[in-house]
Amino acid sequence: MKWLKTLLLLCLLAMLCSCEKEHKAKLIMVTNATFPPYEYMAGNEIDGIDPAVVRLAVSRMGYDLEIRDMSFDSLIPAVQSGKAHIAAAGITVTEERKKQVLFTLPYVISKQVILVRKNSSIRGVKDLKGKRIGVQHGTTGDTFVAKHIQEPERFTNNPLAVTALLSGKIDVAIMDSEPAEVFVSRRNDLKILDEELTKEEYAFAFSKHNQTLCNEFNAELKKMIESGELNSIIERYKELHSREATENTIIANTLFGRLKDSFYMNFIKDQRYKYLLNGFSVTIQITIFAVLLGILIGFCVAVIRTTADQTGKFFLLNQLCKLYLTVIRGTPVVVQLLIIYFVIFRSVNIDKVFVAILAFGINSGAYVAEIIRGGIMSIDKGQMEGGRSLGLSYFQTMREIILPQAFKNVLPALGNEFIVLLKETSVAGYIALQDLTKAGDVIRAQTYDAFLPLLAVALIYLIVVVFLSRILGCLEKRLKKYE
Ligand code: GLN
Repeated sequence: MKWLKTLLLLCLLAMLCSCEKEHKAKLIMVTNATFPPYEYMAGNEIDGIDPAVVRLAVSRMGYDLEIRDMSFDSLIPAVQSGKAHIAAAGITVTEERKKQVLFTLPYVISKQVILVRKNSSIRGVKDLKGKRIGVQHGTTGDTFVAKHIQEPERFTNNPLAVTALLSGKIDVAIMDSEPAEVFVSRRNDLKILDEELTKEEYAFAFSKHNQTLCNEFNAELKKMIESGELNSIIERYKELHSREATENTIIANTLFGRLKDSFYMNFIKDQRYKYLLNGFSVTIQITIFAVLLGILIGFCVAVIRTTADQTGKFFLLNQLCKLYLTVIRGTPVVVQLLIIYFVIFRSVNIDKVFVAILAFGINSGAYVAEIIRGGIMSIDKGQMEGGRSLGLSYFQTMREIILPQAFKNVLPALGNEFIVLLKETSVAGYIALQDLTKAGDVIRAQTYDAFLPLLAVALIYLIVVVFLSRILGCLEKRLKKYE
């Protein structure tokens, strides 16, 4: 029997090793998919020069690749904190960044350019002082403007700056030359000025702790540069974009025609409506589970708080609950979300939907707790005394007599809290979750049209809220019967 035991042990070891291998075999690349032709959303996939180059190099190194989208200014922190192995987003090598991450060989030479409306009177840098200048937050364009001209208006991504430029909210946008060319080719009312502001080189970024991985990657990159493979990938994507550009331009002249074209561009072309559908399902998932978690937390906290107030029990728990209420109600939900994602789960590979449910659930719990506590307090004291004199214990009276009445009283306030929560989830995009609001952003980033995507997103929220209010109304009516 000994051999059987040894065999089993060996099998177990082999399984463990293979798990370990599988785990190791995946590298995570982070990017900001609003930077065509380097990275952009194509359907639900992130495509572009950077994903193509990294995927090829990494597969030759024997790894799988997972690509995650996040805001540009979070990329270097993500690599630094170990949340990702590689940051690839047309990242310019700068002295500042070199202090934080390791850079590979440069693979592209680029520059910052000035993008203006066609009829603009701005001719070059000398005309920029005092103008409204838009940049993408955290980029070299941002640094350049802040250092040499003035404080810029910072957008979360370049397409948003382009949208602002097109609608006259800013006078110029400063960005890297190649995305600027793509934007210009899609909109015939924009132009790039001849003057170039900087000379830059793009490279991929690795954590300072990952020198070996960076070296391995560099070796593959070098081969790709020398064999001309890199060049042909770059050319392939550039050509793809110039071809797409001609198809994308809105040409109709009448208002109705433009609206029709715009509708087609925003929702039908490349099945962009699917972003909204997927985003909607993410928003609903987060809301439903966060509501449930919020009720659970809120309910427990409310009971602890009132029991402590009325009976003097649970002193320590009560203090903890008070602290929870103060902290959660005293800080913005988006900050809580960022803390949970980037600080608490710093180096844990965790599902973002789960993080969002946790953050919004914990946040909502604080408000629900106070609503329920208010409900319990609103019940006449005599009810508790009555229950107790009938021989029921404190908790029995609470459960059988107080809570059902309290619940009925607080239903409108609870309903309101859920509606607020649904809308609050719209900040989930901060951790790069593609919820409904972010879906609108993604469409906007591809079409530079602010009007229709925003309208569609607002309309969907409105429909859900009206629907929820109706259900709550019905529920209230039903409960009234039991008065
Ligand atoms: N090259 C610029 C930078 O590194 C912008 C890159 C980007 O917007 N993805 O700051």
